[in-house]
Amino acid sequence: MMKARTAEIAGAGLAGLVMAAALAQKGWRVVLHERSPELRMFGAGIWVWESGLKVLEMLGAFEQATRRARIIQEWRVADETGDVLASIEFDSGARLYLPLREDLYDALIARCVDLRVELRTSSEAVAMRPDGTLVMASGEERKADLVVAADGVNSKLRDSVGATRLRDYGLEVGIRLLIDQRPSDPTDVVTEYWNGPLRLLYNPCSDTKNYIFLGAPLEDERANTLPIDRDYWAEKFPVAADYVARFEVDGRWDRIGAVRCSSWSNGRTAIIGDAAHGLPPNLGQQAMTAFVNAMAMVALLEESNNPDDIPNVLARWERQQKPLANHVQEWSYIYGIVVAHWPASLMSLRGDALRFLSSTKWLREGITRGGFAVPPGYRK
Ligand SMILES: Cc1cc2nc3c(=O)[nH]c(=O)nc-3n(C[C@H](O)[C@H](O)[C@H](O)COP(=O)(O)OP(=O)(O)OC[C@H]3O[C@@H](n4cnc5c(N)ncnc54)[C@H](O)[C@@H]3O)c2cc1C
Repeated sequence: MMKARTAEIAGAGLAGLVMAAALAQKGWRVVLHERSPELRMFGAGIWVWESGLKVLEMLGAFEQATRRARIIQEWRVADETGDVLASIEFDSGARLYLPLREDLYDALIARCVDLRVELRTSSEAVAMRPDGTLVMASGEERKADLVVAADGVNSKLRDSVGATRLRDYGLEVGIRLLIDQRPSDPTDVVTEYWNGPLRLLYNPCSDTKNYIFLGAPLEDERANTLPIDRDYWAEKFPVAADYVARFEVDGRWDRIGAVRCSSWSNGRTAIIGDAAHGLPPNLGQQAMTAFVNAMAMVALLEESNNPDDIPNVLARWERQQKPLANHVQEWSYIYGIVVAHWPASLMSLRGDALRFLSSTKWLREGITRGGFAVPPGYRK
């Protein structure tokens, strides 16, 4: 019998968990290191597009991850008065689900546990080397057939192999929070309200909570204050005042930046998730891109099934998958520019421009490609 191939993965976020489960499912012996003392997810809700749903099905995590999720029929873009500027519809072959992040995270952890992934908390990696070495903060050096950096947008491991080409900290911040649900809240329509560069995104999410995302330019101090300045947001979005009244005092804001790598692979090392292609979350597709990339890597590794060939497989994987990640990244920027950075002097034209653009196949295909990509290895 062939000896099990081994993988060391740094970072138990969504990308690291999917990578770990996908490898373990194919018989790899996987150790997943998380530097935090406990596995915890923050972030309210998350858009899980068709591509991600297929990955969850492949991993056997679909039922648990989506058990309380809302099934979305439409993503609407509106102005601050509620006037609809653009709309994208979903159906049974092109789905969008909105689970709580914790449900998705817990489902992936449960799959990793079932598949005997060795999960180590308080286990920080500091570097990796192309020969398949993961260097831990403790000084320990761990060897494996494959080493994966899934350590997030500020990845130390990416830096350790000199792969960081761009780390853009962005000019926008995003605040995420959950609000209590009321019977009158829409349950299957996401609405993204815009007022100038300010954004209030309402997401039905689970049977008791809804998820709100607030986006604002960095320099808008009132918009970026925590606790959230409810008067400010209600004044900017009178149409959503009922949601704003339910904002809790806390919440959390993140700077919306991006990452570009010179290379995702080097010898036996690979970089996935935000560490490889962090991007502004305008389209809700970056975790989906990571999921598809992880499945693509595993499909290619299975095809080769030769530990000596791993560096070539990783190089092939990068060539195959980078165009999709680049596309999602570029379209996320385009969307952000068209909507958030539209020149103030031309604001009166934004609605008509968006209405026109959203009616074109070009824009719909561009915006949804990462969400509807079919993960390699997927069979119905
Ligand atoms: C506001 C916002 C909304 C978003 N909405 C969506 C959405 O709707 N849909 C979507 O697909 N994506 C969305 N995203 C993106 C998505 O959240 C990320 O792509 C995804 O969570 C990234 O996962 P990751 O595992 O790559 O990184 P992280 O989630 O950052 O995980 C990295 C993990 O590695 C650990 N770690 C870090 N350094 C080390 C180390 N040296 N050693 C060991 N462990 C380490 C960290 O503690 C962490 O647990 C959104 C992002 C933001 C900011």
